[in-house]
Amino acid sequence: MTRRLIYAANWKMNHGPAEALAFAERFLQLTSPVEDRDLWFCPPAVAIRVVAEALRLRPDVRVGAQNVHWEPKGAFTGELSISMVMEAGARVVLVGHSERRHLFGETDEQVARKTVTALATGITPLVCVGETSAERESGRTESVIQRQVEAVLARVGPSDWSRVVLAYEPVWAIGTGKNATPDDAAQVHELIRFQLAQRGVAIRVPILYGGSVSLANVLSLLARPELDGVLVGGASLDPDRWAELVGLGG
Ligand code: PEP
Repeated sequence: MTRRLIYAANWKMNHGPAEALAFAERFLQLTSPVEDRDLWFCPPAVAIRVVAEALRLRPDVRVGAQNVHWEPKGAFTGELSISMVMEAGARVVLVGHSERRHLFGETDEQVARKTVTALATGITPLVCVGETSAERESGRTESVIQRQVEAVLARVGPSDWSRVVLAYEPVWAIGTGKNATPDDAAQVHELIRFQLAQRGVAIRVPILYGGSVSLANVLSLLARPELDGVLVGGASLDPDRWAELVGLGG
């Protein structure tokens, strides 16, 4: 069976509505759908609608949110519910990105709750896991990844995993220009697959790699069959570069 690759762009706090629209229009000029390849765009929440509308005729594109709250509504100033981002056009949501975990104190428990609510509401959660450099250097990569995945396993039943996508994003590789080697990434992907299988998840859950993916390394990373795609920050911010990158691999 051939892999269906996912190329997911995380724009973080870049590209408000006007810039996002200009990006989408340029991207449409440069690309057309490629078989067996899905392109996901996670702009800032205020630009979800404009990107979803601009790219609505592209069957290969899904627009996503970068974060949501797990509650459907209420007194949570500054937060967005899943139905709100869906109303704006999101069909995917990043959950537990390392910047949410490490800069904003998001816990494993909160990541799991967001995943459960995303599944219940009908949006695809892209759940991110990854170790810090201190954790890797002290030989704790395996235990940290297992703990983060276990938190989701504890709340999401085996059959619901058919609607979950995971991303392995070592924290030390995000925005640093220092990517994991294809071997290192593949090893952690295998570890996650083994853990899912042990817990009765028979479905092949797509696992993306993220962390300083670029035009220079995407081919060697995607050459590894353990990787089902990439989650990209910095190299997704320029439409010409992103159009070139999503044309590579597979
Ligand atoms: C990310 O934001 O998920 C990411 C992987 O960023 P970068 O590609 O810039 O390392």
